[in-house]
Amino acid sequence: MTDTWALEVDRRRCVGNGMCVAVAPEHFTLADGRSAPVTAQVGPSEEVLEAFEMCPMSAITVRDSGGNEIDPTL
Ligand code: SF4
Repeated sequence: MTDTWALEVDRRRCVGNGMCVAVAPEHFTLADGRSAPVTAQVGPSEEVLEAFEMCPMSAITVRDSGGNEIDPTL
């Protein structure tokens, strides 16, 4: 298990429907009609996990502290 997650939102995929902001307002914010992480690094979070799962465009990427893309739901 990793203790820090690095968040990214792919602005080319994001359609700005705000679902991630609704479930994880501490971690995502809408800027210019697209989502962006509030902070790039977060501790493991149930809300981030929910946002990752709910994003219809799979626009949210989570990386471990080694920079490897992970599926936080696993
Ligand atoms: S849920 Fe996905 S598509 Fe919707 S605003 Fe968030 S990142 Fe963008």
